[in-house]
Amino acid sequence: MRLDVFSIFPEYLAALDVSLVGKAAKSGLLDVRVHDLRDWTHDRHRTVDDTPYGGGAGMVMKPEPWGEAFDSVMPGDGPSQPRLVVPTPAGRPFSQDLAYELAAEPWLAFACGRYEGIDGRVAAHAAERMQVTEVSIGDYVLNGGEVAVLVMVEAIARLLPGVIGNPESLAEESHSGHGLLEYPVYTKPPAWRGHEVPEVLLSGNHKLIAEWRHEESVRRTAERRPDLLAAWGSSLAAEDDAAS
Ligand code: SAM
Repeated sequence: MRLDVFSIFPEYLAALDVSLVGKAAKSGLLDVRVHDLRDWTHDRHRTVDDTPYGGGAGMVMKPEPWGEAFDSVMPGDGPSQPRLVVPTPAGRPFSQDLAYELAAEPWLAFACGRYEGIDGRVAAHAAERMQVTEVSIGDYVLNGGEVAVLVMVEAIARLLPGVIGNPESLAEESHSGHGLLEYPVYTKPPAWRGHEVPEVLLSGNHKLIAEWRHEESVRRTAERRPDLLAAWGSSLAAEDDAAS
C-alpha cells in the first residue's frame, strides 16, 4: 500500500519510521511518502494560511499550496488515483470498520489541516478526481491532523497481510467484528505483588479457558461499553430469528 501524507510539520510523522509500521515500510509492505506542504508555496515566508472570509478568529489554510501539491504528487484522475483522507473533527467517525475499508485501498493520501482547517474548496476540488473521505478520530479538537493520521495509519497498517506476525491475534481483539471487548490478558509470573493470574488460565483446559474468556468479554463489555453489549445482544437475537 502506498501512503502520501501532506503536512506543514513533516517531522511529526517521524513516528511512521518506528515499530510495526516502520518495519512494514522497510520490508516494502508500505510505501510511505511524507511531503512538506510549504514546498508548494512561492513567497519568502512560505505562507500557507490567510484570514477567514466572513471574519472570525483564527486563520484558514489557503487552497493554492494544496492544489499544487496534489497536482504534483497525484496527477491524473480516475481509478489510478488515491483515496484522499482529510482529518477533521467534523468528519465521519473513525472506527475499526473504516480501518478495514481503508486497508483495502492500494493507495491512500492524507491532508493534515492546521489552524481553523483547510479552505473548503480543497476537498471539493479533489473530489472531482478522487474519492475524498473526511474523518474524525473522536469528539475533541486537536491542533492539527498529524496525530489523527498517525492513529489512522497505525490502525490501518496492522490489518495489512504480513504486518502483524500472527494474523489470528486480530480476530479476537476488541472492535473486530464479534461485538465484544477483548478479555483481560496475563503473562508470567503467576503471582505478582499480591495479584494472581486467574487459575483457569493455568489449567491447560482449552474449553474452560475459552468459556472464561467469553464470560470476561461479556462482563467487561457490560461494565465499560453497555452500548456495545446492547448491539451484540440485538445481533445475536437477529441470528436466532434468521435460524428459526
Ligand atoms: N475549526 C475546526 C473545527 O472546529 O472543526 C478545527 C480545526 S483544528 C484546530 C485543526 C486541524 O486539526 C483540523 O483541520 C484537522 O486536520 C485536525 N483535527 C482536529 N481535531 C481532529 C479530530 N477530532 N479528528 C481528526 N482531525 C482533527
